[in-house]
Amino acid sequence: MELAVKNDRMEKISRTEQTLLERHPALENVIRPFAGVFREKAGLVERLKEKVNCEMTVSDKPLALELDAFPSQASVMAAREIIIALKQNFPALEPGLYQLETKMGSMDFSRLCKAYLEKGADAAAEYAQDLDIPADSLELVTRFCLSALLEAMFSGRPINGQPSQTHCPVCGSLPSISYLDRVPDNQSEFLTGGGGMRFFHCSLCGHDFKTHRIFCPVCHTEDPEQLRYYKADKESGERVDACLNCNTYLPSIDLRKSDGIMDLDTAALGLLHLDILARQKGYQPLTWTPWNRME
Ligand SMILES: [Zn+2]
Ligand SMILES: [Zn+2]
Repeated sequence: MELAVKNDRMEKISRTEQTLLERHPALENVIRPFAGVFREKAGLVERLKEKVNCEMTVSDKPLALELDAFPSQASVMAAREIIIALKQNFPALEPGLYQLETKMGSMDFSRLCKAYLEKGADAAAEYAQDLDIPADSLELVTRFCLSALLEAMFSGRPINGQPSQTHCPVCGSLPSISYLDRVPDNQSEFLTGGGGMRFFHCSLCGHDFKTHRIFCPVCHTEDPEQLRYYKADKESGERVDACLNCNTYLPSIDLRKSDGIMDLDTAALGLLHLDILARQKGYQPLTWTPWNRME
């Protein structure tokens, strides 16, 4: 059963990767390596689920912020596997990752993941400076390691989210993309405005949460004069939503226009041409990710 679940997710990533490569061959250099890491991470998440045990009470704060620490054995296992996956998919990162491996014995990934969750990339940069290792390699490893741990610990748990919230109810991060999906059969199209339902996909833990259809997640404006969207073509359902008021953008995909189900982390890779378009117009991303930082 476990194996079937794992293979489903990996297969979904591969199918999405194939669709995107056909649609955007120019993005191959980003899509292939990151999809490769996502596949390895999906396998890791299934192995981690047997090691992590997460008993928590529900509160109003993002769940993960209530954690005292991440399980240390699982954190080390995740870091080691992520390093292997990154080496396989990003040969240019090998020197930095080797340097990091030599210091593994003196590193506390459980503490580092907790610090990254609270302070972001700065936490990894400080830690890297103390240990004299490359900050960019450590940040990438920590981010994917934390992402896998969060997914193993929290995916499938009931979450108390507020409908209009902009930060992930699991880990408190901002979304990497938004998407429109079909209204489930038990809900009326009339109640949702007849245009499907809008969700945010968390940039760190991959949790999906429902949101309003049209507003800016940063400054919360609903003023149509301030909200713009740009498309590269009419048919694909891919667009980027931008806000003139706070100068940010968020890529978006209409899943009702895609055949079959997409893996949403992988789908974000296929929207990079829209990241580039939005940046050329002077907007900043809602949140930085390892893939939207690549030029
Ligand atoms: Zn999250
Ligand atoms: Zn805004």
